[in-house]
Amino acid sequence: MIEFQSVRKQYDNGTVAVHELSLVVETGTITVFVGPSGCGKTTLMRMVNRMIDPSSGTVRVNGSDVRDSDPAQLRRGIGYVIQQAGLFPHRTVLDNVATVPLLFGRSRREARARASELLELVGLQQELGKRYPAQLSGGQQQRVGVARALAADPPVLLMDEPFSAVDPVVREGLQDELLRLQAELDKTVLFVTHDIDEAIKLGEKVAVLREGGHLAQYAAPDDLLAE
Ligand code: ADP
Ligand code: ADP
Repeated sequence: MIEFQSVRKQYDNGTVAVHELSLVVETGTITVFVGPSGCGKTTLMRMVNRMIDPSSGTVRVNGSDVRDSDPAQLRRGIGYVIQQAGLFPHRTVLDNVATVPLLFGRSRREARARASELLELVGLQQELGKRYPAQLSGGQQQRVGVARALAADPPVLLMDEPFSAVDPVVREGLQDELLRLQAELDKTVLFVTHDIDEAIKLGEKVAVLREGGHLAQYAAPDDLLAE
């Protein structure tokens, strides 16, 4: 599980992005963080993989304070997917994904085989692997981003507005795909969105955040109070 305990983040310029937040994300669930732009969602995600540290309070992954872990080691266990898939433009789609197993010491052939499996897992046709990212649609690029995040087989996935830049029909397909993948893979997914409908569709638990990084509600979708 992932535990935020009295977590507060104030940036150097004085902005309070997260205000004393405590909650527990259960292992093997999709937990959605929803709220307007600027309410601290991205800041929370970045505290899980130690791109930033809290000003006070503690973030624990499986019982260990993330500050006691080596960031590189920690990030092997945490996949990260963002709005712009962030693919390497000069590498093929297949090689974008194969980079990760290669980094972890697999041979080039093994890495490509693994990448090929992952493309299939996220619903991409094999021939797309030969293309370059710019030759894919936005939705396809996001699928590649998910495949790459899964390449190290991390138990935890951080997904920060992963589907926000694609059109509504494609977004629905990607949401369905994530639910199907989750049923198969059983990851602990922290999913950020500003769209309450997306939160309700995907979340087993939903954390509703407000301006100034306040946690307003944390509940299963059926138990959320109308605001
Ligand atoms: P969200 O993901 O919900 O849009 P963020 O976590 O990105 O929110 O930002 C929360 C608040 O912190 C915003 O007011 C934002 O402008 C501010 N903020 C984010 N990153 C920084 C930073 N590096 N320095 C100063 N302020 C920041
Ligand atoms: P997103 O909402 O997708 O995280 P932003 O545009 O909020 O994107 O932030 C882009 C980058 O700028 C991030 O690295 C964030 O930490 C930083 N940032 C955001 N707001 C501020 C701010 N007020 N001052 C300084 N840096 C900021």
